[in-house]
Amino acid sequence: MRNPRDLSASVGLRYRIKRPAKGCRATMSIVMSSRRRFLASLLRGPVDRPAVASPTSVATVEQMEQTGAFFPDVHRDGAAMARLAAAAVDTLGYDAIMPVFSVVQEAAALGCPVDWGSVDTMPTVRAPLWTGPDQVQIPAAFLEGPPIRTVLDAIRVLRATYGHRVAIIGKVMGPWTLAYHVYGLQEFLTDTLLAPKRVREFLEALSAVTLAFGRAQLAAGADALCLADHATGDLVRGTMYRDLLQPIHRRLVRDVGGPTVLHICGNTLDRLGYIADAGFDAFHFDSKVDAFDAVNAVGDRLALVGNVNNPETLLRGTPEEVAAQARRAINAGVRIIGPECAVPLRTPLENLIAIRHAVEEAARRKGGHRE
Ligand SMILES: [Zn+2]
Repeated sequence: MRNPRDLSASVGLRYRIKRPAKGCRATMSIVMSSRRRFLASLLRGPVDRPAVASPTSVATVEQMEQTGAFFPDVHRDGAAMARLAAAAVDTLGYDAIMPVFSVVQEAAALGCPVDWGSVDTMPTVRAPLWTGPDQVQIPAAFLEGPPIRTVLDAIRVLRATYGHRVAIIGKVMGPWTLAYHVYGLQEFLTDTLLAPKRVREFLEALSAVTLAFGRAQLAAGADALCLADHATGDLVRGTMYRDLLQPIHRRLVRDVGGPTVLHICGNTLDRLGYIADAGFDAFHFDSKVDAFDAVNAVGDRLALVGNVNNPETLLRGTPEEVAAQARRAINAGVRIIGPECAVPLRTPLENLIAIRHAVEEAARRKGGHRE
C-alpha cells in the first residue's frame, strides 16, 4: 500500500488524475483538504474522493451535550451557534460546517412571531405577517436584526477558526419558503393555482431578502450558500417551478455571486432539469428521488448532494443500512454525500458518522484516497 503523502511528494504538487473526471469517480493521487474537496465537488472538478457534508442542519441532541451549546439558545447566540455547528467537523468528521439550523431566522427578523422550540424540536413560524405582496416591507436595518446578526456572527467565528481547512456553508431561505412564512402555506399554494400574478409579486418582493442575507453571509466568510426554497414535489408541479420560480432563481444565482446549492425536499425528479437550467452549482436532494435517476436527469450540469434517508435510515436504521445508502449514492455519481435534509434531532451519532466511514471505505477500495 502506497502512502499518499509519499506519492504526492514524488509527483511534486501536480495532480495525477487517474481517469477522466466522471461524476464523483475521479480519483487523485494526493489528499485534498476538506475545504478543497468540498469546493471541488461542488464545482464539479476532480477530487480525491467524494466530499461528506450537508448544506442543511446535522445538529443533534448528542452534539448539543458534547458541545454544551443547546437548542433553542443557539438560534439567537452566534458563538453558541458556531460551537454546535462545528461538531459537524469535530465529531462527525465531515468536510463542511453549516451553522443555520432552523428555517425561521429571516421570518423572525421580518417580524413574524416565532416559536423557538426546545432542545429537541426545531423552531417554527407561529403566524404569518402579511395578507398581500403590497404589504411586504423589509426593514432598513434588516441585516442588523438579532436573528440575522446571530448567523453572520457564527459564520465569522467559523471562518476565523476553521476556514483554512473546512468549508463554511451559509444558508438562506428562498422567496418561495419566505412566502409560506409571511403569508401562509395554504394561502400561497392556493394562489399558485388561482392568482399567479400575486405569487410573482410576492416572489419578486421577497427575493430581496434572500439576496441581501445571502450576500451578507458570503461577505462574513461563507464559501458557498445553500438556498432552501421548498417548492417541493409533494406540493407543487414541476412546470410551476419552471414558470414561477426558475426565473427568480436564475437571477438570484447571478446576483448572489458565490457558489450556490439549491435545497428542495420531497420528490423533485420532474424539475431537476429546470433546476439545472437555473444555473445552480449543486442540488441537495431527497431520498424520494433515486440517486441513479437524479444523476441521469442532470448529467454533469449540476453537482448532486445528499441523499441518505433521514426518517427511516439515519434515525432508526443501523450503521450498515446507512453505509449501503451512502455507497449507492457514491456509485450513482453523487458528488457530496450526506443526509437528505435537516436531520431529526435524535439521530444517533454513529449513523451520521457511518456516512463518512462508508465514503472513506469506498475510496480505499478504489485505491485512491487513504486515511
Ligand atoms: Zn428539506
